[in-house]
Amino acid sequence: MSTAYTYLTDDHLRLRDQAQEFGHSVIAPYVPHMEAAGTHTDRELPRLMGELGWCGVILDAEEYGGMGLDHLSKTILIAETAYFSGAAAGILQASYIPTTAILYLGSEEQKRLWLPQIAQGLWTAILVTEPDSGSHVLGMDGTARRKGGEWIINARKCFIGNSHIAGLHVVVVRTGRPGEPRSLSAFLVEADRDGIEVSQPDLVGMHGFACGNVNLRDVRVPATNLLGDVGDGLAAAYTASVVCGRPNLAATALGLHHRVVDETIDFLNGRHRKTGKRHRETRKLSDLPVVRHRLADMESRLMTAERLAYDAVHLLDRGQPCDGELVQSKLFNNVAAGESLRDATSLHGGYAARTDHPITRLMRDIQLVGAPAGPDDIQRHRLTEKALKVDRTQWSEDFIRRTRLAAAA
Ligand SMILES: Cc1cc2nc3c(=O)[nH]c(=O)nc-3n(C[C@H](O)[C@H](O)[C@H](O)COP(=O)(O)OP(=O)(O)OC[C@H]3O[C@@H](n4cnc5c(N)ncnc54)[C@H](O)[C@@H]3O)c2cc1C
Repeated sequence: MSTAYTYLTDDHLRLRDQAQEFGHSVIAPYVPHMEAAGTHTDRELPRLMGELGWCGVILDAEEYGGMGLDHLSKTILIAETAYFSGAAAGILQASYIPTTAILYLGSEEQKRLWLPQIAQGLWTAILVTEPDSGSHVLGMDGTARRKGGEWIINARKCFIGNSHIAGLHVVVVRTGRPGEPRSLSAFLVEADRDGIEVSQPDLVGMHGFACGNVNLRDVRVPATNLLGDVGDGLAAAYTASVVCGRPNLAATALGLHHRVVDETIDFLNGRHRKTGKRHRETRKLSDLPVVRHRLADMESRLMTAERLAYDAVHLLDRGQPCDGELVQSKLFNNVAAGESLRDATSLHGGYAARTDHPITRLMRDIQLVGAPAGPDDIQRHRLTEKALKVDRTQWSEDFIRRTRLAAAA
């Protein structure tokens, strides 16, 4: 992380130092174990990160016992963690999204019940995606039916981050007529309720991060578990995705990107070719002009990616509507990390083919950053709408308004 930002405070720098220290001393030595285990649910890193209070980074300290920090702090924490492990960053970012939905829509009672538990290390998950409806959220089949004082939920959700470790799910399902904007509602569903079953398909990367299927069959929750009003489900899904998911994934891509650049520099500095008369001299690969140009491109992308990721959330922290900037920061970070990875793969020569080489773990992990919170084409679609001045809800504006009102109450 560069410190060339006028808005970084001592809190940001302290958190960065804490994340780096934890990364070096705990995550780095643990990664080989997680890689060797392949697709699985790690419970040790979540436990340790929970003890550090990281589940509650943006939760108010006085009211909820959180760290009381801002969205930029969250971005710094995810990016610094991703530098050491995509899986560890995946665990953090997946939990911040439902937590944001609770902050945005939760009643006073719901917030007082759940946010202090989250601050103390309760992991959460957001359940939106279904096998036949990913980007097209309104096309989901899962339903909730009201019966007396309860809702009965039936849904098949997939690609759910923290599926196996979350104690609380925020579940978005249909309560109205298919296709209508207010046909979805959001519910708080405790993970130990009857009728919930989790399973985990094999994933290409982020080993240790549980990202699986959650089936809900006739799961009953009390009417008080409705999050917001009936019909607020789309707002819950979109707001959490725009103001939290997109910057979180931008931060994950940023941390992995940074590591790609550093791994490549280490590799090029450590690799020599013989040169000069009778091959008596040696030159580092990083001294070759063509290689240096590629490194310049990688560094340039990384610097731009970091600035976009930081600036977007800084706007949010200042209370300025910034949907476009949040979308752009996710798109640019994902594309730029992919482009630098292509350069890095080329610069690693044959070593990029060895599954035990650090660069190949980064290749696998980066593949999991594109889809969550909307694939690149969805971000492009949103940016096109912005360019064409299509009138759309500004989810960041609504989030800022609602959370300010709640704070003032
Ligand atoms: C690691 C990981 C973590 C995830 N975590 C969660 C989670 O915690 N909770 C959750 O609910 N979901 C989660 N997801 C799911 C993720 O949100 C979806 O994968 C994503 O929304 C895309 O949906 P899809 O995979 O069904 O792709 P589809 O929607 O089928 O899209 C496939 C492709 O079609 C194109 N496309 C589709 N629609 C459009 C459009 N309108 N405009 C332009 N192009 C389009 C794009 O190229 C897109 O990439 C996660 C996914 C991954 C991989």
